Amino acid sequence: MSGEPVFDKLALLGIGLIGSSVARAARRGNAAATIAAYDSSKDVLARAAALGFADSLHEDVAGAVRGADLVIMAAPVGAYGELAKAMAPALKPGAVVSDVGSVKSAVLRDAGPHIPPGVHFIPAHPISGTEQSGPEAGFAELFDNRWCIVTPPQDADADALERLKEFWRRLGSQVEAMDPHHHDLVLAITSHVPHLIAYNIVGTADDLSSVTKSEVIKYSAGGFRDFTRIAASDPTMWRDVFLNNKEAVLEVLGRFSEDLSALQRAIRWGDGDALFNLFTRTRAIRRGIIDAGQDSAAPNFGRDPKKS
Ligand code: NAP
Repeated sequence: MSGEPVFDKLALLGIGLIGSSVARAARRGNAAATIAAYDSSKDVLARAAALGFADSLHEDVAGAVRGADLVIMAAPVGAYGELAKAMAPALKPGAVVSDVGSVKSAVLRDAGPHIPPGVHFIPAHPISGTEQSGPEAGFAELFDNRWCIVTPPQDADADALERLKEFWRRLGSQVEAMDPHHHDLVLAITSHVPHLIAYNIVGTADDLSSVTKSEVIKYSAGGFRDFTRIAASDPTMWRDVFLNNKEAVLEVLGRFSEDLSALQRAIRWGDGDALFNLFTRTRAIRRGIIDAGQDSAAPNFGRDPKKS
């Protein structure tokens, strides 16, 4: 626990995997003195009460954000416009409003116009998560040693920006600032398109009439199993990501389809060198991720060999 809390009152809007992890990590890192939480689901609020990661739980947005110094939207991205509209009249002058959404241009477009003058709107995206959802899935260590990207507007208040960065550092993250459009393009290739590929391949396997579903499950090898983990991610969250990062995803998919056609051609013409050269290049990328401390070097992602 380091020093004084960065913010006196934190309000979280949406307390599933990410929102509840922010609450838990903020407590662990002494990043906020008190934590108020709102969720649109009464069931989630009841479960959060039992888990005890918030000081107060609210059935209305205004009740949660009133008096808050930092407000973080942590619902699916498609809800941010409505949330910003609902919170606006209750926001404290000088407060910082942020989010954790996986896309950034659409957040600025949808929420930005509702944020009143005198309140600092600085979107953010922690690059960490799991395929699970809900308040039970959250944990305090989720952000440790992972990046959090902030996308401040050009005229962002320097003090508000520094306090938001310090908040994320207290949660365990390293923080970097980025232009929102660039963020969306980078995340399209590192996260969004890989998820789409996983959803697609698992869907294709499910549709294959010549292979029964039980065979797909029974003989699932490492490759397919790893895709199924990603394809188990929250449908609402991912629907909203694709609806709100359309341009960048379509741009990356165009490149992906061209490269896939080239691979198809290499297989058809028996061009082993083309395959070998690509697979060698991609192996080096995996090594780079491990060297950067962003994944485990243990074989099979460190899974227990008896269970894998
Ligand atoms: P989650 O576990 O499904 O939690 C989202 C919570 O928000 C749920 O409790 C949901 O309630 C609630 N909610 C839905 N609509 C709402 C609204 N209008 N107002 C308030 N709460 C609402 O999802 P998550 O994984 O935490 O994702 C939350 C955000 O984090 C998303 O914007 C996502 O892009 C971002 N993010 C996710 C990851 C990841 O790996 N999961 C990583 C980085 C960032 P119901 O369950 O009743 O719908």
